[in-house]
Amino acid sequence: MKKTPTSQEIQNFQPKCLGPEGANVGRSIAVTATGFVLPCCWLDRPDNFDKIMEDKKISPLFDEALHIDNNDTIEDIVSSDPWQKFMRELTEKPEESSYVCFEMCCTPGNRHRKQEKW
Ligand code: SF4
Repeated sequence: MKKTPTSQEIQNFQPKCLGPEGANVGRSIAVTATGFVLPCCWLDRPDNFDKIMEDKKISPLFDEALHIDNNDTIEDIVSSDPWQKFMRELTEKPEESSYVCFEMCCTPGNRHRKQEKW
């Protein structure tokens, strides 16, 4: 069942794949072992692939039409409609983002984010 993010989680949501340098650690696109290009490696969950396929935000990125064997360049994939929609909606409809994105890219309490105090 999809967990509805709290207003605090939405407020804290900072997609690292979009973040300006310095504001967060930033994330680079990733290519899965099965040949799909993703906005970051955190969306690649081979150990829980069935659950990822139930996620209507992420599953379109695994459409066979977006497989690297079916495209000439990575640019062809990242400029595709599913990819552009995913990236656009991170900012336009953050409340609808994947649970994975909320888990990994909410600043306070993100267990994967190293925080240093000066
Ligand atoms: S988890 Fe989602 S929001 Fe965070 S960097 Fe990856 S794709 Fe972007």
